[in-house]
Amino acid sequence: MKVLITGGAGYIGSHAAKALAAAGHEGVVYDNLSTGHLWAVKWGPFEYGDIGDTTTLAGVMRRHGIEAVLHFAARSYVGESAVRPDIYYRNNVSGSISVLDAMRAADVGKIVFSSTCSTYGARNAMPLVEGMPQAPINCYGRTKLMVEEILGDYASAYGIAPMVLRFFNAAGADPDGELGEEHVPETHLVPLILQAAAGMRPEIQLFGDDYPTTDGTCVRDYVHVTDLGATHLAALSRLVPGELQAYNLGSGTGYSVREMLAAAERITGRPVPVQIAPRRPGDPPRLVADTAAAAAALGWSPRHSDLDTIIATTWAWMTEHRQNAYRALANRGGA
Ligand code: UDP
Repeated sequence: MKVLITGGAGYIGSHAAKALAAAGHEGVVYDNLSTGHLWAVKWGPFEYGDIGDTTTLAGVMRRHGIEAVLHFAARSYVGESAVRPDIYYRNNVSGSISVLDAMRAADVGKIVFSSTCSTYGARNAMPLVEGMPQAPINCYGRTKLMVEEILGDYASAYGIAPMVLRFFNAAGADPDGELGEEHVPETHLVPLILQAAAGMRPEIQLFGDDYPTTDGTCVRDYVHVTDLGATHLAALSRLVPGELQAYNLGSGTGYSVREMLAAAERITGRPVPVQIAPRRPGDPPRLVADTAAAAAALGWSPRHSDLDTIIATTWAWMTEHRQNAYRALANRGGA
C-alpha cells in the first residue's frame, strides 16, 4: 500500500515509517521539519511541506498514488499549548482539516490519526476506557479531541474510513539503534531523566509532589514507540468506511515520576539529581490505559513497553547511536 506519513520525520512517525517499510509498504514522508529531522527519514521518499498547505498536500497525494494517510504531524507539548494556543489550534486543528480536504481532493479515503490520552482530562476512575467521557484539561488535549470529532463528522458525511489511536506516553527508542527521540528543547520525562543521568544537564525538575497518588507524583502509562509504530500496520488493515474507530494505546501499567527516576538510576547505575518544582499546568494526576479494545481490534500486545526496555533503549540511543544518525546523513549529503 502507498501511504502518506505526515510528520514522518518526527519521533513516532519515523518509527511507523520503519515498520511500514519492513512490511513491504511504501511510506512517503511529508514533513515541514519544524520539529522533525531529516536523519529520521530513511525508508522512503521525502516531501517537504506544511500540512496547512492543502494544494501541495493534494498534489503529493496524487503524484505518489497515495491510498491512505497516517497523520502524525502536530505540536505536542502540553506546557507550550497553554501559552501558545494559537499555534496549537492552527497547526493541530486547521492543519488536520487541511489534510482531510487534501484527501478529498485527491480521492484518498483512509486515515489513521494520532490522538492522545490527554483527551480524557483528569478522571478519577482508572484505567481509562475508550467510551468514557472526554474532557481535556489542557489546550493540547482539546485540539486533539476536536480533530477526533471532525473525523467522526467527515466519516458520516463523506464516508471516509478514519481510526483514532490515543497514544499514552510514548517513550523509548528503536531497538536497532536507528531512530530515537530528539526534541529541541526536550520536555519529556524519560529523555530528561537520562540526560541528567548522563551529566548532560545538572538535574531534572519534578513537577509537583503533592498529587493524590501513592507517592505524590504524577502517574503515567509509558508505551514504547516501536510498539506504537508497528500497530499502524494493523490499523491500516482494519479501517471501515463511514465508521470512526478509537483505541487506547498504552502498556496498561502506570508509573509515578519517582518510580521512573528509581528505574533510571537502577538501569544506568548513575544518580539522577532532582529538584522539586511546582505543578505544571494542565497535568492530570493519573493517566493509565485500558487496552482491551485495542487488543481485540488490532491485536495490540506491546512487546517492548516494559519499563526496563523503554529506559534501556533510550539510554542506548542517547549514549551509543545518536551520533551515527547524523554521520549517516552527512555521508549521503544531507543537511
Ligand atoms: N515531568 C516532570 N519533569 C519534567 C518533565 C515531566 O516532573 O521535566 C512529569 C510531568 O509533570 C508528567 C510526567 O513527567 O507528570 C510526564 O511528562 P511528559 O512531559 O514526559 O509527558 P506528558 O504527560 O506531558 O505527555
